[in-house]
Amino acid sequence: MVDLLTVWCCPICRGRLAVEARDTRLACVRCGTPFEMFAGIPDLRVARPSWVNVDTDREAALRLERDTRGMALESVVRRVFSNQEHRTDAEVDYRVRQVVASPARLRRQVHGWLRDVALIPGYVDLGCGPGLLLAASADDGVSGIGIDASLEWLVVARRMIEAHGGRATLCAALCEALPIPDASAPAIASLDVIEHCGDQRRHLREIDRIAAPGSSFALATPNRFSVSAEPHVGVWGVGWLPARWQERYVRMRSGKPYEYVRLLSVPGLKRLMKRETHFDGRFIVPRIADEEIALFAERRAKIARAYNRVAELRMLRWPLFAIAPFFRFIGVRRGDASRRAAPMPADVAVPLRRGDDARAPQRTPVPSPRRDPAQPPAPRGD
Ligand SMILES: [Zn+2]
Repeated sequence: MVDLLTVWCCPICRGRLAVEARDTRLACVRCGTPFEMFAGIPDLRVARPSWVNVDTDREAALRLERDTRGMALESVVRRVFSNQEHRTDAEVDYRVRQVVASPARLRRQVHGWLRDVALIPGYVDLGCGPGLLLAASADDGVSGIGIDASLEWLVVARRMIEAHGGRATLCAALCEALPIPDASAPAIASLDVIEHCGDQRRHLREIDRIAAPGSSFALATPNRFSVSAEPHVGVWGVGWLPARWQERYVRMRSGKPYEYVRLLSVPGLKRLMKRETHFDGRFIVPRIADEEIALFAERRAKIARAYNRVAELRMLRWPLFAIAPFFRFIGVRRGDASRRAAPMPADVAVPLRRGDDARAPQRTPVPSPRRDPAQPPAPRGD
């Protein structure tokens, strides 16, 4: 508990948090906003549009925690996937195996392009989902802290990290309102998160705000102009349309919803980073991992291997940025004197379910889950 109160702060005014009722409720010392804890995890989400439905998610987290006590990690992961209506049994099996095996597969990334982030004690994993990266760090004896919009996945994350011998420090929060004090994060990862943010500019500003001078920042995201199909819905050519047509086009082609997905291109992210942050770094086009290619059909595997050969040629890297399926950024925060970002409009806390607090704002409608936080960053290159 002591840990928890020094790591997190109020996502609204950044004041210190205090325990109001042990294991169930926190409150901000400065602005008085109360925050509940679910399954022992603080819920520091604010009321702004998100792919998660807060009420459903809280119930799912409590149910998962209650029903899987003493069960093996694999059964916990299985429970989450089998509760997702659209999944076939074969899909559930596949996803469970994939998630459980992911921390081991992330090892190469942790010791590769992520080494200045995922091997730094106390690093922040934004959008940690089921804790795959945090568990991979735990294998190296490093504990980070994890934030996700979904409490249900955080319940899995805790089990995942502990199964790998790590210490789980987790909270539910939105990527646009981080409950972390200014300039306090020793390193930050945001892997496959920014494309699902309701407000991408605000996400980058928040990362910039919490980053300590000299800290490393790693970001991964699918490429808007990739020549391969849109990775979330499997539809071709989505990114080539103006943003306002994308949702309708995806619905027409696949019947799938496409809210809370907005892919960026390399120049697009570069522009945003320049405007909103103080990071110096480089963009990387990763190879497609051999383990992943092994799962492809023959024709697709052939294309992937050819892609990897091209990705290794330095002179062809720039053209690749245009069409690669995904890309990465790794950089370091400059220690600017003028750290204070432009003021942003204030957030309000997500309403409590019991309706027992006069300060709780009106409930904002939030759509059902869209992001699958267990999907990436696992099967992503090396
Ligand atoms: Zn506050």
